[in-house]
Amino acid sequence: MRTPSTHGARPRSLWEDTLAATERCAEQPFEEPIAADITVIGAGLTGLWSAYYLADQLPDASIAVIDAAGVGFGASGRNGGWASALLPMGLKRLEREHGRDSAIELQTAMHDTLDEIERVLDHEQIDAGVERGGTFTAARSAPQFERLSHEVTTYQRFGFGNDYTLLDRHAAADMCAMTDLEGAMYTPHCLAVHPAKLTHGVARAVLRKGVRIYAPVRALSIRPGFIDTDLGTISTKYIVQATEGYTSQIANQHRNMVPLYSMMIATEPLPDDMWAAIGLNNRPTFDDTRHLIIYGQRTADGRFAFGGRGAPYHFGSAIRQNFDTNATMKERIHQALIELFPVTKEAAITHHWGGPLGIPRNWACTVNADWKSGLITAGGYVGDGVSATNLFGRIVADLISDRELDRGTHTQSELLRLPVVGPLSRRWEPEPIRWIGINAGRLAARIADKSEHQSGKDSRFWGGFVDGLLRR
Ligand SMILES: Cc1cc2nc3c(=O)[nH]c(=O)nc-3n(C[C@H](O)[C@H](O)[C@H](O)COP(=O)(O)OP(=O)(O)OC[C@H]3O[C@@H](n4cnc5c(N)ncnc54)[C@H](O)[C@@H]3O)c2cc1C
Repeated sequence: MRTPSTHGARPRSLWEDTLAATERCAEQPFEEPIAADITVIGAGLTGLWSAYYLADQLPDASIAVIDAAGVGFGASGRNGGWASALLPMGLKRLEREHGRDSAIELQTAMHDTLDEIERVLDHEQIDAGVERGGTFTAARSAPQFERLSHEVTTYQRFGFGNDYTLLDRHAAADMCAMTDLEGAMYTPHCLAVHPAKLTHGVARAVLRKGVRIYAPVRALSIRPGFIDTDLGTISTKYIVQATEGYTSQIANQHRNMVPLYSMMIATEPLPDDMWAAIGLNNRPTFDDTRHLIIYGQRTADGRFAFGGRGAPYHFGSAIRQNFDTNATMKERIHQALIELFPVTKEAAITHHWGGPLGIPRNWACTVNADWKSGLITAGGYVGDGVSATNLFGRIVADLISDRELDRGTHTQSELLRLPVVGPLSRRWEPEPIRWIGINAGRLAARIADKSEHQSGKDSRFWGGFVDGLLRR
C-alpha cells in the first residue's frame, strides 16, 4: 500500500488544542478508483465553502474534497480568527484598476459576507465561538494617527463613513487600555472566531450535504480532467484548486504564490479583573498601524491570541514543519504584546505556532476559471482570507453552476461581476531574486517601524521601500 505524503504534523495551536473530539470532522481514507463531477483540492475554508455552496446549487453532482493533511490543517485552522471585511487590494487600488462602482460593490459584498457567515453558522448550528465585536485599530504615534486619518477619509470618500469611525485619544482609551494611544479607528465589520471550530464546523456541514472528504491524499499535478495524486489518479470534470500558501508545492506552480509565514502566541486565560482593566469588551479584534502587521483577539475563553508577520521567507518557497515555530518570532511577538498591554507580562504563554499564507505577485486575491481545462483557482488573500473564503466559495459555486445549468451570460449572480473574478497574477520572480526581494521588504518594514518609533516622524523612505518591493 502506498503511504501518503503530508505536509507534516499539525502545529499545537491554541485552536487545535481547544477543539473537542466531537467537533472534529472525520475524513475518509482515499481508495482508488475515484471519480467525481467536481473535485476540490484543499480542505481549508476556500475549498469547504466552495463545496458547501456547490452541493446546494448542484444537488445531483458528485463532489469530492481532497487534502494532503486533513480538514483545517492549513491557515484556515490556525489563523488569528479575524473574520473581517478586509481585502489585500484596498479601495483606492480597486478604484484605479476597476472603477469606483466596482470598488464600492466589492467592499459592500465583503460587509455582507459577515452576515452570510453568521446565517450559515446559525442554520447549520455551528458553534465557532463567534462574537461580532468589530475591529479596534490603534494609532500609537503621530505618524500612525496620520495614516489612520487618511484611511478613514478614504472610507468616507467611498461612502463608508458610517462604517469606519476615527476615535480621538479619549474615546479610544474608553474601548481599550493600550499604551501610547493617540487615537484609533473602529469598525463593526469583524467577527472574532475560533478558526478550527469554524473550519471543522463547515466541513461537517459539507459532509451532511453528501460531499466526500478524503485525507490524507496529496495532489501532485493537475491536467484537464485528471488530478494525479500520491495515491492514484482522480478523474473529474471540474477541479477547484484551493491550496493557497501551499500552491508552490504543486508541479509547474512553483512561482504562482509565495508562502509567507505568520506566527502567533496565546496566553493563559486572564482573570476578569485584568480584562476589566484592559477593556476590549464584546471582543473586538485589534491591531495598530505599524508597517509590520500585528493582530490580536480576546478569545471566548479569556486569553490573548496574538500574532505578527515578519518571519523569514524560506529560499525556494520551502514549507517545512519546523518553520511553524520560531523562537525569535515568539519572543518578538511576546514583547510586542507586553508593549501594548504591560499587565500581560506575568501571564504564561501556553501556545506558539504559525503557518504559511499565500501571496500572489500582484498582491490581489482572485477567482479564475479556465474552462478549457476545467480548472477553477481561488485564493491569494495575503493574510485576509477568513471571511473572503466565504465570498470566494459562493463565486466558485456560481461559476460552475452557471456553466452546468447553461445560464451563459444571463447569469443571475451579481457576484460574478465583482472585480475579484478575473485573470491570475503574473508569476513571482525566480530565485534568488524572490528571496532577496521578500526578505529585504521584511527588513525594510522593521526599519520603518523602528525609525518612526525613535523619531516620531513618518518613515516615508522605508515605508515606500516596503510598498515598492512587496506590494505590486
Ligand atoms: C498564522 C496566521 C494567521 C492568520 N490570521 C488571519 C486572520 O486573523 N484573518 C484573516 O482573514 N486571515 C488570516 N490569515 C489568513 C487566512 O487564514 C487564510 O487566508 C485562509 O484561511 C485561506 O484559506 P484557504 O482555504 O484558501 O487555504 P488553507 O486554509 O491554507 O487551506 C489549504 C489546504 O490545502 C491543502 N493542500 C495544499 N496543497 C495540497 C495538495 N497538493 N494536495 C492536497 N491538499 C493540499 C492544505 O493541506 C490545506 O489544508 C492568517 C494566516 C495565518 C497562517
